[in-house]
Amino acid sequence: MNPLFDHHVHSDRSDGTVSLADRAKSVALRPHGVSDHYPWKEKLRNEDDLKRYIEDASRLGLRVGLEYDLGVAPPLSASTRESLHYLIGAIHQITIDGTKIAYDDAGAFIKGRIKTFKERARFGDPELQKRLLERTLEVVAEGIERDRIDILGHPTFSALQALGDPERVYPEEWQERLIDLCVKGGIAVEVNESYGVPHPEFLIRAARAGALFSVGTDTHFEIKPLDKTDAMIAAAALDRARFMAGSRLAPR
Ligand SMILES: [Zn+2]
Ligand SMILES: [Zn+2]
Repeated sequence: MNPLFDHHVHSDRSDGTVSLADRAKSVALRPHGVSDHYPWKEKLRNEDDLKRYIEDASRLGLRVGLEYDLGVAPPLSASTRESLHYLIGAIHQITIDGTKIAYDDAGAFIKGRIKTFKERARFGDPELQKRLLERTLEVVAEGIERDRIDILGHPTFSALQALGDPERVYPEEWQERLIDLCVKGGIAVEVNESYGVPHPEFLIRAARAGALFSVGTDTHFEIKPLDKTDAMIAAAALDRARFMAGSRLAPR
């Protein structure tokens, strides 16, 4: 079985630990691109930084994407978007009524870096859950319409994921609406190894709705085999022909 193309890999141009030059070498192990965070602190601050990143990675023969911070990143110029091989949009926080709700602790908990999720009680509030879910759909829709993302990165990752059973925290009706946005928008649903999302029921619903998929290990370290991703794909019996292969699908 040939390994699927991994679109979501970080380098030291944002918070990864591996240089672009070393990423270019590991492509021989299994096919992958690079997709650093934008914006990212002092490293990828603006379009000038992005241009350098895209040029440097392209010169090394890498497929170049970006993990565009939905709801936070400024709009990309058309020329920058076109110079990318693909654009991943992902949510790392949500702003409700001007208040930023960060997912950092939830992410660290999900990835096993911290043992307790201290904000459990706060995110257990049904009213907050409802607003957070609605706002998520709005932000994804904006990413599709305004920013023309090609892939929804780590779908269903949020602070709610840290609460437990995704079938309880994400109502089926909400899952279907998120899938519908992706299918109608012609963007791929990422199978993200790092957060272990989406869960099998979501992937099965997405496949049933005719979704496209994309592999994204979201690794920040050395390239490892795709075992865990393959297990997620097998658990939902996804068709490997429905996966993106390192380029955006068609001009939109
Ligand atoms: Zn991310
Ligand atoms: Zn990432």
